[in-house]
Amino acid sequence: MPLLRDFFIALSHNKTLERFLTGTRLGRKISRRFVAGETLEELINVVEKLEKEGIFTTVAYLGEHYHAREPALKSTEEYIRLAEALVPHREFSEISLKLTQLGLEIDRDFTYDNLKRIAEKAKELGLYINVDVEESRLLEDTMWIVKKMNEEGYPVGTVIQAYLYRAEEILEDLARYRMNIRLVKGAYKEPPDVAYQKKRDVDENFRKLAVKMLKMADRIYPEFATHDDRIIDFVMKNADEMGVPEDKYEFQMLYGVRLGLQRRVKRTHRLRLYVPYGTHWYPYFMRRLAERPANVWFVLRGLFG
Ligand SMILES: Cc1cc2nc3c(=O)[nH]c(=O)nc-3n(C[C@H](O)[C@H](O)[C@H](O)COP(=O)(O)OP(=O)(O)OC[C@H]3O[C@@H](n4cnc5c(N)ncnc54)[C@H](O)[C@@H]3O)c2cc1C
Repeated sequence: MPLLRDFFIALSHNKTLERFLTGTRLGRKISRRFVAGETLEELINVVEKLEKEGIFTTVAYLGEHYHAREPALKSTEEYIRLAEALVPHREFSEISLKLTQLGLEIDRDFTYDNLKRIAEKAKELGLYINVDVEESRLLEDTMWIVKKMNEEGYPVGTVIQAYLYRAEEILEDLARYRMNIRLVKGAYKEPPDVAYQKKRDVDENFRKLAVKMLKMADRIYPEFATHDDRIIDFVMKNADEMGVPEDKYEFQMLYGVRLGLQRRVKRTHRLRLYVPYGTHWYPYFMRRLAERPANVWFVLRGLFG
């Protein structure tokens, strides 16, 4: 499987396939498994449908690693439009964004200014923002921005990656801010001096951090973002034993991933799906195939079935 994973990761950088898939109706149809659509209107339709089913959402406008100011400014404008469109759904929906989309690889202060514009709008409209965490080389700047936003009273939370050796230290630092904290295993390829390399070690750290977050549930709002059913059961059992009420934490998964598990979790607990939209869906879509190459068959079946 690692070979197939690397194959799909390599394909996620392939511009020819990207042009082909994003330029055809067939490609756009395939992408719908994991992506709500290319427009804000298509996104809102999906948010509404999920809301009717009692499913919460965190929505993201696709795009990352911008090295020019123009696309970063365009993303900022789109997030402001998105915040306005989410107002009727604000009880169920929040925003997720990546700082490299707002210019983090260009300039930290420029990124901060962009996020602040979005956060001002979100605060005015009563919406929450989650800042996704990307490669570890960007961690210091990301945390600096997230903490500054909280010190200034903006509704901004973030993510902790359990694969990082520093994850527990980061959790203790962030817990001072009473924010929403999403715990994930971690999606990037990190070196052995920064992150656990073995799945077993990452899973063990996830469990340890999850218990710690449940203990902090009077100060932070813990969000457990995983499709790992054994870890989900572990969290539910611990929360139950510790007497943490079900409205004091939630589970999160990706739109289109492990639908059976989503249904099971939703029956007893709050479930929030990460729902992306936008024309720049190709790398995100290929990463979902890389996580589980068997997804290719779901996609093909959806096409011809
Ligand atoms: C809501 C949300 C937000 C996230 N935000 C971030 C972030 O900000 N930063 C970051 O680094 N990472 C983020 N991630 C990704 C995360 O770090 C993992 O890479 C990803 O969730 C896969 O790990 P897992 O916990 O599901 O466990 P795994 O051990 O990878 O998977 C558990 C089970 O789920 C199945 N599964 C996993 N992915 C898929 C898939 N695509 N299709 C079908 N089955 C699948 C596996 O086959 C396995 O059976 C986020 C994930 C979610 C759900």
